[in-house]
Amino acid sequence: MAQIRIENLRKEFGAFTAVQNSTFTIEDGEFFMLLGPSGCGKTTTLRMMAGLELPTSGRIYIDGEEVSQKRASQRDIAFVFQMFALYPHMTVRGNISYPLKSQGMPKARVREKVGEVAEILGITDILDRPVGGLSGGDRQRVALGRAIVRQPKAFFMDEPLGALDAEFREHMAEELRALHDRMEATTVYVTHDQLEAMQMGDKIAVMNHGVVEQFGVPQDIYDWPATKFVAQFIGSPPMNFLEFDGMIGAGHDEVRLNGVAVKVPEAIDGASGKLTLGVRPEHVKLDDAAPYRGRIVASEYLGTTRIVTLDTPGGVLKARIPSSEAVVVGQTTGLSFDARTLTLFENTHGHALRSHANAGVLAHG
Ligand code: ATP
Repeated sequence: MAQIRIENLRKEFGAFTAVQNSTFTIEDGEFFMLLGPSGCGKTTTLRMMAGLELPTSGRIYIDGEEVSQKRASQRDIAFVFQMFALYPHMTVRGNISYPLKSQGMPKARVREKVGEVAEILGITDILDRPVGGLSGGDRQRVALGRAIVRQPKAFFMDEPLGALDAEFREHMAEELRALHDRMEATTVYVTHDQLEAMQMGDKIAVMNHGVVEQFGVPQDIYDWPATKFVAQFIGSPPMNFLEFDGMIGAGHDEVRLNGVAVKVPEAIDGASGKLTLGVRPEHVKLDDAAPYRGRIVASEYLGTTRIVTLDTPGGVLKARIPSSEAVVVGQTTGLSFDARTLTLFENTHGHALRSHANAGVLAHG
């Protein structure tokens, strides 16, 4: 399997720039997620890595070898599409063995390899059935079988579970991850679903308007978002933003939200003027003694937790609290935040300001 590195990768379609100078490395054996909203350039990035689209500029290396201008067939990779393009008139065996037969592999060896792959995917009993009548899940497994049978250097998947219903999607996501762990194959996976990316990925690149805004392990991206966009795209409900006018930097560990003092992490990067305080819903505590106050406007029961919506002087805020904590809609309560979990953003570009807690993560961002 292979390490994949892209350097300053850029793609223009006429005057429109779909991917703007991306640089990152996917390590050998990683399950790597390209995540972002529709139109952000995920598919274009993947297609360039796969050799289905040529970059306008920049370089792509697979296993140390530069492949930027090579065609897909010369890159030894496998692409799994959302519309798993199987041959409907052929059997499962016919579909899976197709790539091996076209390589001219001897029949007995093909049979053996197809048998191994079917065993891994749990589809041995349907090998001789035509794919036309199979369920969505089985068709997905056959498509995967056809991709893995060649043992390529890397797998590229573009929203492979997009067409499946929610329950089945979750099941296939687990299967895919388990398959990946068994094969230890480098996998690049495109999704717009932040939950899928968090659940399945070893690393995530979060894209927005053609730019990789953050690159890292899921927990770092969740805990220490590099931008306001990442903070709101990841997490449900997303990170709360409270705007304030003030000054932060070395020696400042307090800001004033509408006149109320709130402790914040001491920023390494200084900034002043209009700034934003970011707080995850689970880091908001309902604490009657706290001076920053809000009115409870809604309470949503979710089993183990409850999402409480509050109107506060700095803006609407959502808190995730244990469902055992009773709340009364219409009442006013104090709100406290654990300073160690807060992120400060400047408002011009929406970049997170480095503090002692997030500096390590943002240095790699
Ligand atoms: P989606 O999930 O909707 O496919 P995406 O993040 O994968 O979104 P891309 O398919 O990479 O986005 O497209 C990025 C942008 O580039 C979009 O605005 C798209 O319209 C544009 N684009 C993609 N391919 C072409 C093309 N061949 N010609 C012109 N514009 C294109």
